[in-house]
Amino acid sequence: MKKRGLGTTCIQGGYTPKKGEARVLPVYQSTTFKYDTSEQMARLFDLEDSGYFYSRLQNPTCDAVAAKICELEGGVGAILTSSGQAASFLAIFNLCGAGDHIVSSAAIYGGTSNLFTVTMKKLGIEVTLVDPDASKEELRAAFRPNTKALFAETLSNPSMAVLDFEKFAAVAHEQGVPLVVDNTFATPINCRPFEWGADIVTHSTTKYMDGHAMAVGGCIVDSGNFDWMAHKEKFPGLTTPDDSYHGLVYAENFGKMAYIMKATAQLMRDLGTCQSPQNAFLLNVGLETLHLRMARHCENALKAARFLSENPHVAWVNYPGLEGDRYYERAQKYMPNGACGVIAFGLKGGREQSIAFMDKLELGAIVTHVADARTSVLHPASHTHRQLNDEQLLEAGVRPDLIRLSVGIEDAEDIIADLKQAIDHVYGSALSD
Ligand SMILES: *Cc1c(COP(=O)(O)O)cnc(C)c1O
Repeated sequence: MKKRGLGTTCIQGGYTPKKGEARVLPVYQSTTFKYDTSEQMARLFDLEDSGYFYSRLQNPTCDAVAAKICELEGGVGAILTSSGQAASFLAIFNLCGAGDHIVSSAAIYGGTSNLFTVTMKKLGIEVTLVDPDASKEELRAAFRPNTKALFAETLSNPSMAVLDFEKFAAVAHEQGVPLVVDNTFATPINCRPFEWGADIVTHSTTKYMDGHAMAVGGCIVDSGNFDWMAHKEKFPGLTTPDDSYHGLVYAENFGKMAYIMKATAQLMRDLGTCQSPQNAFLLNVGLETLHLRMARHCENALKAARFLSENPHVAWVNYPGLEGDRYYERAQKYMPNGACGVIAFGLKGGREQSIAFMDKLELGAIVTHVADARTSVLHPASHTHRQLNDEQLLEAGVRPDLIRLSVGIEDAEDIIADLKQAIDHVYGSALSD
């Protein structure tokens, strides 16, 4: 079949009913799957046959949704996880263990930053954070002989830096490690990291993919492009026998599917961070309109960013779709159809004004969430990035006055009117007209 468009995949990808079957992807609300003989089941446990046996490992509803996301990203295999955090953890832990090291952009989501710098450290995995705009030399300098991955976000949450894919991919590959990219904010509708050299993509599906703030979830997609056997020594987990499967070698047995097979058969089996079929069903409903929503998010966000950048009380605006933005050219290159609906900005006067403004919003709500249909705001320094000190905040690109505005898909005029009335409240209306 001819390669179909992303909109068609959003709606029809991952599930093709046969004669007389449900038109809509069913929820397989079942932990278990039936077999006729003990031998049939034994073969599944040895990974000699593929089939469902227990929903912690695989479930038909989850698999269909993973297949849809896989097709959207242009990968060879994908797995849903219980959350974006689980996706980030499994994506990295599938490549390394105690005594290993990773390099990550410092401009990443607060939760990922905690995971890498605090929790993974306890597991014996070290991280070196690098400036997202570091030169090739600076990036190279962060690598060690035991480095197993380079990690970054397509659009950083919440600083809105745009990843220089070609630079990061070139250094990762020259150092013999995969580039792992969190593509949550751009979604495959606006950017497909595999086309720019990324090897593995992660998502918090909780955000735009779900789009309605209904279900926490995550996903890992593999491009199938990284040659594990060419770096046999570096990735023993994929290239040497797995004792928990009678000495099976993932890269030999499964070829391009090795990474996702290992994540499923070994990590999901042992760590159990699977997505529930009910959440996968809701995620799938969200995915059916992802292409329509992303276009509207971008259209509304550009209007809101323009309004903010022209308002005399606004100190600064970061939105890669805005002409003159530091990342405008890079965004045009990697995501010409638009970035996403998230804007970072600060008000004159700093932190106190930013907080007062948020309290005055009527349409926009203060929520620990981002990237759904409803306009929302958050103050990362007080909320998601609260664990970071001021120096770490700046390193992550998060100024203390930064307001993260997640522009929804309501009418743009109403969103802008709400921003305006809240700014007027903070500064007195005469000034902002
Ligand atoms: C929210 C988020 C995560 C974590 O996802 P959860 O689904 O909340 O666990 C990871 N990366 C980015 C970019 C996010 O915005």
